[in-house]
Amino acid sequence: MQKPYSPRLQPAIVQLLGEPIAQIVRTKIVATIGPACREESDLRGLVETGVDVFRLNMAHGSVSEHQESLDRIRRVSNALARPVGVLVDLAGPKIRLGELPNGAVECRMGGEIRFIRGTQTDRPEEFVTSYSALIDELSVGDSVMLVDGTVSLVVEERTADWARCRVVQPGLVRSRQGVNLPGVKLSAAAMSQADWQHAEWAASAGADFVSLSFVRSAVEVKLLKELLRTRGSLARVVAKIEKREALDNLEDIVEAADVVMVARGDLGVEIDVASMPMVQKRIIRVCQRYQKPVIVATQMLDSMQHSRRPTRAETTDVANAILDGADACMLSGETAIGKHPRLVVEMMRRIASATEEQYVEDRTAYVNNQLSQGRTPSTHSVQDFLPAPDFLVEGLHPITQAVVDGASRIAADLNAKLFVVASRSGVTAIARSKRRGAVPTIGISDNPATLQQMTLYWGVTPLAAVASTDINGLLEQVTAWGLREGKLARGDWILLVAGIGFGTGGHNMALVHEV
Ligand code: PEP
Repeated sequence: MQKPYSPRLQPAIVQLLGEPIAQIVRTKIVATIGPACREESDLRGLVETGVDVFRLNMAHGSVSEHQESLDRIRRVSNALARPVGVLVDLAGPKIRLGELPNGAVECRMGGEIRFIRGTQTDRPEEFVTSYSALIDELSVGDSVMLVDGTVSLVVEERTADWARCRVVQPGLVRSRQGVNLPGVKLSAAAMSQADWQHAEWAASAGADFVSLSFVRSAVEVKLLKELLRTRGSLARVVAKIEKREALDNLEDIVEAADVVMVARGDLGVEIDVASMPMVQKRIIRVCQRYQKPVIVATQMLDSMQHSRRPTRAETTDVANAILDGADACMLSGETAIGKHPRLVVEMMRRIASATEEQYVEDRTAYVNNQLSQGRTPSTHSVQDFLPAPDFLVEGLHPITQAVVDGASRIAADLNAKLFVVASRSGVTAIARSKRRGAVPTIGISDNPATLQQMTLYWGVTPLAAVASTDINGLLEQVTAWGLREGKLARGDWILLVAGIGFGTGGHNMALVHEV
């Protein structure tokens, strides 16, 4: 159980007043690797353009290909002296069609299709799938969605050997495409044999995040965590929310997970696509309450797979996800198979930058206006959808949470230039990230795995600590870095949150330092 959080300090009412609009982009970018960006030079270009985390999608490609990509990412990261996160995405119990005669079948309106047992068929009106229990678990009246929900069938009759369906939305269906069964409770195991092998590989390869697709309950998340821990991996587990059952068990799943993904691709087929925007907001709100980082994924800049420019709706979608409270936005086909991976990352960065700038300006204007009228500004006037946290960051000492909250307020009041968090496991950096403070945050750690995980946390720039880790050493290092990078000038104030004489895992000190 996460511990309830009841701060004595209210979130700072002037948190964003007068703070500098830094040039850094706070929202993190996750990019999926595929044939369009697998070369080392491509990966380097993407990191230089703004990718923070790469996703290896285990639903496609071999383990040796993914190992090669991971090696390339680590080499690029070393060469650029910049931590880069790696997310290994397990396919989970995704159902796929088997081979179709000639690779594709036209499903005509009103036509009949039979799902049969087995792994092969030569008849175009018969489909086989990767899920052997499908026939047993379908009922008359169930919907079967194909081709990302654009082709739809309804089960009309079922016997021990087949399920006969009527086509109610026609279209062309190809071999191995995904099958979605909205609302059908499947008995499929959370992780297939392939998922177990991929998770074991992720643990041994040093992945920073491992995500599980089609999560239905908290137990499934805990199972993956357990597997990783027993293999000596500290990878953070990402729960992909893409089933109705996951929405039914949302709070428990969010609590069990380290990170959450709004996986809109499958979710938008499993639920009414019209309710997607409000469901996205609901998931993000729950993540905010539990202080869990959340990624919004799929079709964010989809048209840029082919086009050099996004649609207006897409740029608005990215901005709205950020205002909803997304910590990271994810690119899928755009970088994996698209024509312009680098352009699309640049575009996402520009949208994030413009959104964050406007957010800070609006917030400042609102606070000034309220104060000039003698009123107390509300803490949530711009990010109306973001509630205050109800729970401590998992694994965080209550003293640390209070110190981070207090220091966030001091940083805002003093118009500090940097907020520095020394963090061995990264949890303190999550606490700071979830405050959504506009003062740029440096997450400093002597643990490379922690630095790689910080790449996902909103507003946190990871910085490797040099050997000396006492307070003065940290301040000297940050100051030297800030002056070199043009982020600090003499006379600027820095906030440092760290722990002294407090055992492990606790931070009991907030210090203001003048450069
Ligand atoms: C999704 O469904 O939105 C998603 C991210 O999963 P995948 O890309 O693995 O289908």
